[in-house]
Amino acid sequence: MREQSPQPNRAFSARTQGHFRWAQISTLIRTFSCFFKPKITCKVLTHKIDIMTQSELAQELKKCVKCGACMAVCPIYRQTGREEMVARGKLNLIEIISRNQELPDAWIEAVDNCLLCCSCEENCSKGVKITEIIAAARIRQTAAQGLNPLKKGAFALLKNRILSIARFIKLGSLLQWLLWRRLPRHSGLIRRLPLPGTDEKTVIPILPRRNLDDILKKRKPDPDLPPVLFFPGCATRYLQPQMGLDLIYVLEKLGFNAVVPAEFKCCGMVTWGAGDAVSNLKLKASNLKVFAANAAIKTVVTGCASCGHALKEYDNLPPESEILDISEFLFRHREKLEKLLKGRQSRKKITYHDPCHLRKGQGITKEPRWLLKLIAGENFVEMSHPERCCGAGGTFGLTHKELSRKILKEKTDAADATGAEIVTSGCPGCILQLTEGAVVADSKWLTKHPLSLLAGLLRSRN
Ligand code: SF4
Ligand code: SF4
Repeated sequence: MREQSPQPNRAFSARTQGHFRWAQISTLIRTFSCFFKPKITCKVLTHKIDIMTQSELAQELKKCVKCGACMAVCPIYRQTGREEMVARGKLNLIEIISRNQELPDAWIEAVDNCLLCCSCEENCSKGVKITEIIAAARIRQTAAQGLNPLKKGAFALLKNRILSIARFIKLGSLLQWLLWRRLPRHSGLIRRLPLPGTDEKTVIPILPRRNLDDILKKRKPDPDLPPVLFFPGCATRYLQPQMGLDLIYVLEKLGFNAVVPAEFKCCGMVTWGAGDAVSNLKLKASNLKVFAANAAIKTVVTGCASCGHALKEYDNLPPESEILDISEFLFRHREKLEKLLKGRQSRKKITYHDPCHLRKGQGITKEPRWLLKLIAGENFVEMSHPERCCGAGGTFGLTHKELSRKILKEKTDAADATGAEIVTSGCPGCILQLTEGAVVADSKWLTKHPLSLLAGLLRSRN
């Protein structure tokens, strides 16, 4: 069904089975001691270890033949022109210094300056697991230097039940009118007071007082409809609940009952990318409990490219469980959806940005384009290089603002050149980054998830 699609990246591949084995754990601790601090206890190792072992790392590094094919596609290299910033250079540095106790600044800079966008992996004929190597190097860096305090605070919110991300966002929604002024044309706010990681053009979404879980408390789903498990992800749940409601609405129109357990936590992608192995393992363990409790529901959908990429690599999902991006799910039900739309189409010109974690992470390119052609017909136009990263890269846009903006400019220029009124993407993180790009470039287009456009059409009467 996806004959043109690139091969999915295996960055989250499982390394070991997930059950508690003392012999295995003690061997792992001995072997990879350079990757772990003692505080990473056996308690968190009881679930699974999916970071590279030292010997796997050495083997993976050996696969690189230094051909330089990764140079043509790396957004960081395109902007900096520095050999140590491209995969070949990074792997070289990691290989040379992988057993040193001290991490030189050049090593840290190379490991730090990566979007984990998988572009190099998609272009690597030797199939080197580049992002997995870089993530393993970041775990080592975190073990040696500790986590950036901002990330540490943010990840604590993802795990803490008392000071939870939900409560933090609610507090933020009360304060944001003080800290940001409203940006009329775009769905966001612009900084009024200096804050870390932001400048005067940083767009913060308008923080909702009621998150998706709050809104869904009053929902009365039809228990007779076949259930589908919906994993909303943090951005949809706490920042863009309307997108979650749109997805639920579309599922219901198609005759499915969306089950949305409030116990789901962050998928763990952001913690993996930051080298926080402990948080990553804890979040996955929590989510796997929720999957196990809902094991009777075999189909899981998400509208977030990064969540889908992360979940598809979880070990120990219930048997026969299937994680699908919403575009894949809709493509399977295309006949019914086409009937429901009854020829209704958007009259707006629409273009599309491929999220890295959808295109390169999961190999999904055809289904979103099918959906957008259904939504907009001839009004759907491709931008040049839709596959290029937008520069968001999890927290990269916050920690490397200048470089991220340069990469983003390539994307906003490509979107501008299409003359589109709406730029779509299947990832809430990309949507946020593109919204900021429109502000920085003073572009006229709006940003939307394809699902929200579809829900709008289904709700319309003509
Ligand atoms: S494309 Fe792959 S094999 Fe070639 S230099 Fe880059 S990482 Fe090495
Ligand atoms: S993952 Fe992306 S940013 Fe990182 S080295 Fe590869 S192409 Fe460059």
